[in-house]
Amino acid sequence: MADCLFCKIVGGEIPSTKVFEDDYVYAFRDIEPQAPEHIIIVPKKHMASANEITADNSAVIGKIFEAAAKIAKELGFAEKGYRIVNNCGEDGGQTVGHIHFHLLGGRSLQWPPG
Ligand code: AMP
Ligand code: ZN
Repeated sequence: MADCLFCKIVGGEIPSTKVFEDDYVYAFRDIEPQAPEHIIIVPKKHMASANEITADNSAVIGKIFEAAAKIAKELGFAEKGYRIVNNCGEDGGQTVGHIHFHLLGGRSLQWPPG
């Protein structure tokens, strides 16, 4: 997608602090971290939101969770715990139209979210 911020980050057109990459997913540090560890994980192939997940493309969501577990272990917060969040659509608070999962850790997280 020509005009998508996260496609541009995946393509290297916009800089990011990469923490993980494989054939399917790309992970980078959030520019406005909400926790000591705040990583955004995206599929390399554009998908607008969770509303677009189907039987044909859902395998990449597993890849994203695999990446999250790997990153949490590598960065050393897997044992203490973490949260994986997907915001979908306007009411969900989604501000970037390329599906992404927030991996948050490094502090005790509150529940429920706002
Ligand atoms: P959401 O509100 O769920 O759509 O999350 C979008 C996230 O992307 C926010 O946490 C932003 O801080 C983050 N973000 C926006 N632009 C960038 C960027 N250029 N590099 C890293 N993170 C970004
Ligand atoms: Zn995109």
